[in-house]
Amino acid sequence: MFFALRSRRAHTALPLLFFVIAVTLPGCTAQPVSETLFSMDTVITVTAYGPRAKAAVAEAVRVFDHVDTLMSAYRNTSDVARVNRLAGSGWVTVSSETFSVLTSALAMARQSGGAFDPTIGPLVRLWGIGARKNPAVPRPDAIRSAMSKVSYRRVKVDPVARRVFLEEPGMALDLGGVAKGYAAGKAAEVLRRHGVKHGLIDAGGNIVAVGQHPEGRPWNVGIRNPRNTGAVLGMVTVSNMAVVTSGDYERYFILNGRRYHHILDPRTGYPAQGMRSVTIIAPSSMQADLMSTAVFVLGPERGLRFAGRFEVDALIVDSSGGLRTTPGFFARYHWQPGQ
Ligand code: AMP
Ligand code: MG
Repeated sequence: MFFALRSRRAHTALPLLFFVIAVTLPGCTAQPVSETLFSMDTVITVTAYGPRAKAAVAEAVRVFDHVDTLMSAYRNTSDVARVNRLAGSGWVTVSSETFSVLTSALAMARQSGGAFDPTIGPLVRLWGIGARKNPAVPRPDAIRSAMSKVSYRRVKVDPVARRVFLEEPGMALDLGGVAKGYAAGKAAEVLRRHGVKHGLIDAGGNIVAVGQHPEGRPWNVGIRNPRNTGAVLGMVTVSNMAVVTSGDYERYFILNGRRYHHILDPRTGYPAQGMRSVTIIAPSSMQADLMSTAVFVLGPERGLRFAGRFEVDALIVDSSGGLRTTPGFFARYHWQPGQ
């Protein structure tokens, strides 16, 4: 009797078992393909699942060096370096990619009232944060002089010929606040074009989740603890979204107990105050990168209002360690606090 019952059960369960295996097989048993490289001054990992994963990852990782070649302020032959060399003297034709990133950066500059400013170059050079052995706080007159060269309003663009002109000598573009987000978004596009349904781009604070995790759930993305960067503050769950963080812990120096970090406020000439980190969750990686830097400079109150206007989500760690978010954040994203 017992035996008969078992066999009847097994009989009916069999098709269901096959179905379950067939549905979960591609995700569960497929091994991820993953490549890690150092580019754009950061460690980058691209992961993908599925039959085309290998070719997809191989092409996606190439995006980062390509974008760096065009947009790094430190490579002599980049579009940005060429524009900067002719500041005050001539127009420079740039690639369509650089032109479009610069156009988005200038739009963000206008929208944020200059909190984000792609002409921040002179201040970035003066402070040299993360680039010098013996960092120091620049003299006030040097800061004032560099500030006078920072103005997105004095960038001329010619969309027809794709040319750029900085109106004054000494002006300098710096696309450090957007280029990585652009590259990560482009790498995600490469994965999608190859038909990848489950993938993850991790470009040092710029994460893009392609589709869902292969186990059929959202991806878990850790948000770093700004004062213990080996640990996470918490995890958010996302699918098909970019999660981009700007932090005062990425590049900084500490002098006489004060932290001087790499996100500069164009209105003061000093590192922006009021924040430790800003995480933006948005469909576009480039937009999230632009916003994370802009919101960081705007500070907690104005920054959250600004993010709300764009209907993107923000999670802020303020300068006292308090967590603040756009309304509804914890309803939209499952948040699991770190240990
Ligand atoms: P992120 O980590 O995306 O916030 O970018 C920070 C980088 O953006 C810095 O290392 C600078 O290269 C650049 N940057 C700093 N301050 C600003 C600013 N106010 N607006 C635009 N870019 C900035
Ligand atoms: Mg940014």
